[in-house]
Amino acid sequence: MRTRYDVVIVGGGHNGLVAAAYLARAGRSVLVLERGAHTGGAAVSERVFAGFDARLSRYSYLVSLLPRQIVDDLGLRFTTRRRRISSYTPMDGRGLLVDTQDAARTRESFVRMTGSDADFEAWQRFYGATGRLAQRVFPTLTQPVPRRAELERIVDDAETWAAIFERPLGETIESTFADDTVRGVVFTDALIGTFTHAHDPSLRQNRCFLYHVIGGGTGDWDVPVGGMGALTDALAAAARGAGAEIVVDHAVTGIETDGGTAEVAFTGGTVAAGHVLVNAAPHELSRLLGEPEATGPEGSQLKVNMLLNRLPRLRDTVDPREAFAGTFHIAEGYAQLDAAYHEAAAGTPPTAPPSEIYCHTLTDPSILAADLAARGMHTLTLFGLHTPAGLFAQDHDRVKRRLLDATLAQLDSVLAEPIRDCLAVDADGRPCLEARTPLDLEDEVGLPGGHIFHGDLSFPYRTDDDPSPAARWGVETEHSNIFRCGAGALRGGGVSGIGGHNAAMAVLEIA
Ligand SMILES: Cc1cc2nc3c(=O)[nH]c(=O)nc-3n(C[C@H](O)[C@H](O)[C@H](O)COP(=O)(O)OP(=O)(O)OC[C@H]3O[C@@H](n4cnc5c(N)ncnc54)[C@H](O)[C@@H]3O)c2cc1C
Repeated sequence: MRTRYDVVIVGGGHNGLVAAAYLARAGRSVLVLERGAHTGGAAVSERVFAGFDARLSRYSYLVSLLPRQIVDDLGLRFTTRRRRISSYTPMDGRGLLVDTQDAARTRESFVRMTGSDADFEAWQRFYGATGRLAQRVFPTLTQPVPRRAELERIVDDAETWAAIFERPLGETIESTFADDTVRGVVFTDALIGTFTHAHDPSLRQNRCFLYHVIGGGTGDWDVPVGGMGALTDALAAAARGAGAEIVVDHAVTGIETDGGTAEVAFTGGTVAAGHVLVNAAPHELSRLLGEPEATGPEGSQLKVNMLLNRLPRLRDTVDPREAFAGTFHIAEGYAQLDAAYHEAAAGTPPTAPPSEIYCHTLTDPSILAADLAARGMHTLTLFGLHTPAGLFAQDHDRVKRRLLDATLAQLDSVLAEPIRDCLAVDADGRPCLEARTPLDLEDEVGLPGGHIFHGDLSFPYRTDDDPSPAARWGVETEHSNIFRCGAGALRGGGVSGIGGHNAAMAVLEIA
């Protein structure tokens, strides 16, 4: 390690690695300091269950927001695979199936669930409009941030602009769709990692929804082949290959700057930098700068990973290999989502916790060793909504156990056999089931409050006139040589590399 680098990056999450790769390729000296034992942050694959070579995407699991341009620029050997079944929602003995390659089948499913094809027609129109929005907005995310009026011009669709950027999403959902299940399926995209309700006047739900429907210019959520670790391993290799130094087990403990040179203190020493890019969350940056303690973000999800001996059978007649290949919604009717939100907001874990599940191995069996795949084993990932960190503050382990039981009971209510009967048993005799609360994620991944996006998402436009490169790219801080470089950058949330790309572009514009 040298005593000074052009750029020091705090955190080796996927965004830190993207920035490191771009900057090293441009000839800058780059050091990445990662506090954990490996790189990747919340985008990793791990052998979670003793005795099984099953490499689960332990935290994040689907890719939508990663621009093709970043993969190409950095020469990454990384691919994703599209899921034919977008979603399946069992409800009251029936099921709503969205098959992206068979509109007639999807229409039929809507008719069976709702009694007519009116909501199917509305669905086609609504997602046609969000598809056009995606084509127009997504390319702007890797360019300097447009002003609001400029983005509105780019969108060029007054009705969709108002629906997404101006009015609480609940108004649009309720005026567009009649059926509660259909409304719920649409609304879940507004709630991933975001604790809110349909009529929140802050439009937090709209911002979350926007990022869930624009990825890749289509809004599709694809399966990373080889798991999320395949992406971050490719990024680390690209960064190292271009000359960046990456050190793990080096937590940054403080940053000081005079605006020209920064001193970065870490466990074991200090290093000087022309620029510091902070891949860690903005709340962590405040701590590193010694700023007064402020209230941090609060995550709101329960993540459950499972390894199964077999896929469970369902109560209805759909083939589990279809039902679990897409996003499988549990207790996510519109009214159920609202009830769960209000219970959790009042400090009580939801009685019927909403969640969504998907089976990676149905689309990409390569994450399992060949013998496990041959035995018919599968991984199952569950993402629970409306479980804010505060619920766990008093008696973490007990609340977690009860919430996990309640969540699995909701799943069992649509299965023909209990999910626990399908779980594999690990080398230590324990069922292959792990749950992670927001507080677990804070400990393991360093996400303040367990917030998966490092903080609430923002609309992808700017409202200030700051001419600096950092502000133009949406990565500025109070300090002229310290930039945000992760999910906490404007336009940064999710597995996208956009925060890292944009921080690197800002540095390259300056020097
Ligand atoms: C359970 C879960 C499921 C998710 N599912 C999806 C999904 O399916 N698709 C999707 O697009 N997004 C998903 N997300 C969100 C996505 O994973 C994150 O938004 C993304 O990983 C952020 O990447 P990042 O590189 O900006 O930050 P992070 O992944 O948080 O990485 C930051 C890195 O900084 C390190 N660090 C922190 N503090 C310090 C310090 N003081 N010194 C040194 N290093 C430090 C951390 O250890 C970490 O490695 C999910 C997140 C979670 C937690």
